[in-house]
Amino acid sequence: MAKKSSKATKSDKTNKAHQDIKQQMIMAGKVLVAEGHDDFTRGHISMRLPDDPNLFFMKPHSMGLDEITMANILTIDLEGNVVAGSARRHSEVYIHSEILKARPDLNCVIHTHSPYSVALSGLGRPMRAYSQPGALFCGEVGLYTDTIALIRSHAMGFGVAKALGLHRAVLLKNHGPVVTGKTIAEAVVGAIMLENAAMIQLAVEAAGDPAPEFSRDDIAKLKGEVGQPEQFQINFDYLVRRVKRRAG
Ligand SMILES: [Zn+2]
Repeated sequence: MAKKSSKATKSDKTNKAHQDIKQQMIMAGKVLVAEGHDDFTRGHISMRLPDDPNLFFMKPHSMGLDEITMANILTIDLEGNVVAGSARRHSEVYIHSEILKARPDLNCVIHTHSPYSVALSGLGRPMRAYSQPGALFCGEVGLYTDTIALIRSHAMGFGVAKALGLHRAVLLKNHGPVVTGKTIAEAVVGAIMLENAAMIQLAVEAAGDPAPEFSRDDIAKLKGEVGQPEQFQINFDYLVRRVKRRAG
């Protein structure tokens, strides 16, 4: 009942902000699929509500990343309970709830099964700066090694959040990446850059005998440049325009 009355008194501004976030989530899902991050209906995206840090919006179960709609997005609390929406909830909700609980500095969490990141996770090797996306992620990727299984409990989600630590992303070994961001743009572009970095690293390591990487300072400088919020937004906006163009 309390929920109903708070919904009724929600300001137009808050409603508009929620609509904008949901619209970005819809486009984020389409961009991720266009970039090859789909695996049937698996993979999910969540975004914290700006007006209530204890709640987040999340893609529903049984739908592809490119089938998110205004109507099927769920509102979920940090314990993983659905507080609004009637769609089925992903059993791996705890990846999102536990990370958003542990990292108040983050708002968006994306988990997919993108193939090169899965392959790199199986090697247990750290991310190297063999490319510019690699420079963004080197030293920024945790590794979760408890299980290949779905993350279906608070305890498992806590384990993923612990493996993430203060990093930008965490690879679930032999399962898939979890990429975070302050914004949807940061997490989406980050997920695409991580996959690209993993692909290049696998190619370099398969070729064998790579030349030494650039100096730490040189890598850190580039990391600072490509990690600017504006860079993520510009590139996300481009990917959204491209998806819309291709849809005709
Ligand atoms: Zn998964």
